[in-house]
Amino acid sequence: MEDKPSADLRYRAGALLINAYGLDRRFTDGFRQLHEILPLRNRVSDKAIKHDGLYAVAFFYNEMGQYRLGLKYARELLADNPLPRGECVGAIALLDAEYHLAKLPESDAPIIRRIDQCLAINERMAAMFIRVLLAKKWVKEGRLDEAKGFIEQHIPEAEAIGYWRLLADMRAMAAELALDAGSFNAAKKHAQKVLEHAAEVPSSSALVKAWRVFYEVALHEKDMKAALNAFRRYADADKAHLADLRARELAYEMVRLEAQGRAQQIEALEQQNQLLQLQQRLEREQAQKTRLAVVLLVFLLAAVTYWAIQVKRRQGLLRRMAETDALTGVFNRHHFTRQAEQALAKCAQAGEPAALIMFDLDHFKSINDGYGHITGDWVLRAVADTCQELCRRMDHFGRLGGEEFAILLHGLDLSAAARLAEDCRVRIARIDTRETGHVFAITASFGVSSTVQSGHDLSRLLSHADLMLYRAKHDGRNCVRVYGNEPPSDPAARRAQAPLSVVH
Ligand code: GH3
Ligand code: MG
Ligand code: MG
Repeated sequence: MEDKPSADLRYRAGALLINAYGLDRRFTDGFRQLHEILPLRNRVSDKAIKHDGLYAVAFFYNEMGQYRLGLKYARELLADNPLPRGECVGAIALLDAEYHLAKLPESDAPIIRRIDQCLAINERMAAMFIRVLLAKKWVKEGRLDEAKGFIEQHIPEAEAIGYWRLLADMRAMAAELALDAGSFNAAKKHAQKVLEHAAEVPSSSALVKAWRVFYEVALHEKDMKAALNAFRRYADADKAHLADLRARELAYEMVRLEAQGRAQQIEALEQQNQLLQLQQRLEREQAQKTRLAVVLLVFLLAAVTYWAIQVKRRQGLLRRMAETDALTGVFNRHHFTRQAEQALAKCAQAGEPAALIMFDLDHFKSINDGYGHITGDWVLRAVADTCQELCRRMDHFGRLGGEEFAILLHGLDLSAAARLAEDCRVRIARIDTRETGHVFAITASFGVSSTVQSGHDLSRLLSHADLMLYRAKHDGRNCVRVYGNEPPSDPAARRAQAPLSVVH
């Protein structure tokens, strides 16, 4: 058992241990063993082994006075379609339990059939056990003579078998029956035979019966000394027997409670385990749900972010499209106007100056006409790029229309703006046109105005710069004209007499 062998072997060893514990009167160990092997029985592959074990269990329960359980396992054995030997020994346990529970069949026939079944396979000892049970049934039924004759008839065979427990039982029975029949000598002789086994059966019912027979016989013989002695021995044997029965009951109760306690512990552990498993499952599900929610949330967030970025990008694109000139990439007229007005308002508030440069390409129409519109476009882009490079971050550069541009310069006075305009003029004139496949000159005419002379109003600044641009064209183009101090109030006169400071 300790080596944990296969189920068959463990079961078989357990059954042997139960028998051995029974004989050794180690009742508690026997019960414990019984609890060990019972759960194994359905894993045992060999039927004979399985039934031997069931018989050991049923027999042990009967021995321990637990006849109901003895009956249960005997029935289980017999219902399991046993081999002839299993059928025979199972019948002993069944009939023994039935006898003690007063459940024996009324008719003798089934019992006799059991005896014959055992004899048919030469199970003589088993047959003898059943004979004793049959005789006990007869005694209960008052068929004493039949019982007496039957037992006495079979004692020689039982002696030949030599199983002392069985023999002691038969002799005790024979002694009592002889006593009842008034055969005192025979009774004494049978009781004497029981005593011969006394060392081996220290607390059996046979011994109690034997001493009672001695006592009765001594009383009958009026041998009071012998009667007293026999009575003392009878009382002692009875006490020992009762104590023995009590010990068996106690052992049964103890192991039953042990097993119950274990079962309760196991149940409690199982409940705990189930609870834990449930908790774990809940936690797993919760975690899964949380993960799913997080994934969904992240996905949603990503989608919303992507969407927002797309919208913003599109908005930016639309805004840029609305604000910039498609050809040159600088501000269109509308946006330039708005930006310039805001910048001027800021300058006015801060009391800072600002200047405006306007320029128009010279004879641009002839470039278009001479080299084609595409080249004209290229020129517009080249000019815009060139001037853009000269502008600072805070300045605003726009295409007012056609080949006309304007730059609003933050914080610059008239002369600084004029210098910048001059820079632009020079750079435009230096643009290398070979990329277009043609070599030609690009020039522009510039008009400059400043808030110092014109105030912070954009339209006035534009008008004054435009005036100067016109003047530059008039003066032969490719030059800068600035709107000087104290402009005349009459616009017509202004065109003609505006004080000019010519930079180029
Ligand atoms: P001026 O020196 O007096 O300014 O002469 P100009 O030829 O430059 O002036 P004009 O106003 O007679 O011609 C401007 C031309 O600019 C007319 C028009 O076809 C051309 N133009 C306007 N916008 C564009 C454009 O976007 N691309 C091209 N290639 N040409 C344009
Ligand atoms: Mg022009
Ligand atoms: Mg023009």
